[in-house]
Amino acid sequence: MVMLPWLKHQLATLQPCLKCLLCDETSESTRLPLCSDCERELPWLREHCTVCALPMHSPDLICGDCQKQPPSFTTVIAPWSYSFPIDSMINRFKHQAQWPLGRLLGDLLGDYVQHSFDHGLTRPDVLLAVPLTPHRQRQRGFNQAQMLGKSLSSQLHTPLQQHVLARIIEAPAQQGLDALSRKKNLRNAFVVKPDAGLHGLHIALVDDVLTTGATAQSISRLLLQAGAARVDIYCLARTPKPGSLLDLY
Ligand SMILES: [Zn+2]
Ligand SMILES: [Zn+2]
Repeated sequence: MVMLPWLKHQLATLQPCLKCLLCDETSESTRLPLCSDCERELPWLREHCTVCALPMHSPDLICGDCQKQPPSFTTVIAPWSYSFPIDSMINRFKHQAQWPLGRLLGDLLGDYVQHSFDHGLTRPDVLLAVPLTPHRQRQRGFNQAQMLGKSLSSQLHTPLQQHVLARIIEAPAQQGLDALSRKKNLRNAFVVKPDAGLHGLHIALVDDVLTTGATAQSISRLLLQAGAARVDIYCLARTPKPGSLLDLY
């Protein structure tokens, strides 16, 4: 059948080409604005601790810290190491409200978690997002973890419960603090709604970046105390240990 030029044109406008958000080339995907070269070059997390996702040199091992003091959460699912260009993509999403980058990161995280389900990860009953204090949320205008949570909820067909957790104490600038100081800052920073009905639930807690794991640890402990059966952490990126050669990943 000969296709009329106007019909050809109409069809072409129905399938717009997506530009890669990183290099501006045309994306091969009709769903994601990311070309395959840029996707391949993202700092995918390779060998890592099976509990806290800390980058390591060997696969399927548990890192020294998790062996010494097993965290309250069961496992961390993170596609990337927190390095270039993921660090800058997350910062532009978080601090400059660049929604297309946030949407892309959310879609890729959804694909990654779905892939993990396909390879044996147990599906959670509900998703929760790490909250900001109301003051910080007003300042920023949105909560990046909640946006990622909404995206995962629709992709994974799992409910996001939005009013279970609250943050009552502002995070002082955590960057530059050691693990102990972070832990002190976080004690009493979060609360779980008393009648949250978490008993027996498997929860996945969504955050943007896992650094020392102190926030994840603090909230997981609260959720388990409130009756949750298991807490997993879903986040975009995991920081390598400071000064580690694995920073290069
Ligand atoms: Zn590209
Ligand atoms: Zn670990």
